[in-house]
Amino acid sequence: MTRPFQIAVLAGDGIGREVMPEGLRCLRAAAERFGLSLQLHEFDWAHCDHYLAHGQMMPADWKAQLSGMDAIYFGAVGWPETVPDHVSLWGSLLKFRREFDQYVNLRPVRLFEGVPCPLTGRRAGDIDYIVVRENTEGEYTALGGVMFEGTEREIVVQESVYSRHGAERLLRFAFELARSRPRRRLALATKSNGIAISMPWWDQRADAVARDFPEVALEKHHIDILAARFVLQPDRFDVVAATNLFGDILSDLGPATTGTIGLAPSANLNPERSFPSLFEPVHGSAPDIYGKGIANPIAMIWSGALMLDFLARGTGAGRAAHDAIVQAIETVLRDGPRTPDLGGNANTREVGAAIAAHLAG
Ligand code: ATP
Ligand code: MG
Repeated sequence: MTRPFQIAVLAGDGIGREVMPEGLRCLRAAAERFGLSLQLHEFDWAHCDHYLAHGQMMPADWKAQLSGMDAIYFGAVGWPETVPDHVSLWGSLLKFRREFDQYVNLRPVRLFEGVPCPLTGRRAGDIDYIVVRENTEGEYTALGGVMFEGTEREIVVQESVYSRHGAERLLRFAFELARSRPRRRLALATKSNGIAISMPWWDQRADAVARDFPEVALEKHHIDILAARFVLQPDRFDVVAATNLFGDILSDLGPATTGTIGLAPSANLNPERSFPSLFEPVHGSAPDIYGKGIANPIAMIWSGALMLDFLARGTGAGRAAHDAIVQAIETVLRDGPRTPDLGGNANTREVGAAIAAHLAG
């Protein structure tokens, strides 16, 4: 008997609390069907009520509490009416990302049957790619400053920092992912025609790593035309690797082309498993619909599928559980029930229960 996977459950704020029970319901159903042993640990912090009561989003020993975990299953954080977003975000999620070295941000982008697509003429199957964003370096630094402030000569400088180690580990992950998929294509977001030092350097890093992956076709796209192609030719993409800023933009643009934000999942990975990885829906706490019980739970449930795939990769059961969850999601999106964001009138619980019922077989 292998040790059960240890999963920290943090529902967070707003609809995070409504979609989490449905995510857990589907996790349990998939684990039972595929013989995966999960131990769930619920923590009542990393939400704005904790901040209001204690002046901190998380207890001082949060890292010790989470460090024995294999994964963190996260709902949503933020309640801007009482706590500014930068406080709640920097006090929780961004700490996890940095302290647990979750350097890969994964966002699958897929168009499902039954979901209206904002791009005309696109059908299910036309959009099916994964954005792999570098999550720890790049453009998001505090290096720089304003000089000659308040004068006519005022200038501002902000540095971007990329390391060889950071770029190559991200690229290696992206190539491995591309190699594991049927189409074996990797697109690199670059801008080597305009950002004349760091982007040619990224191109070279990609060429160097590509030598170890002769089966993968590498294409480089300047970020401007890449964004346009997400809209005009989404079917040409399979795996898309990008620096922190480019990846941030692409991983919002991609899901926006496939219907509601209520579907989009994400994973923040530490692929070496030295620290727990984090799985969460792309959407936020949605204060405008919180309390009505109508939030779409599918992004939360799909994020759970990514988690099982990652945790149990070695055994094959993780992939099987992932695929079964995605298939159950496909079925429910096609046949209903649907939440109001997809034009239906079902509630969160009904959609979660329908997906769990398909999973149970
Ligand atoms: P963040 O602060 O995380 O960047 P945000 O606060 O800008 O996000 P969300 O909380 O994601 O945005 O909400 C944006 C819009 O999408 C809102 O109108 C919200 O109701 C809707 N929305 C978000 N998630 C869901 C969901 N799971 N189901 C239905 N509607 C959703
Ligand atoms: Mg928000």
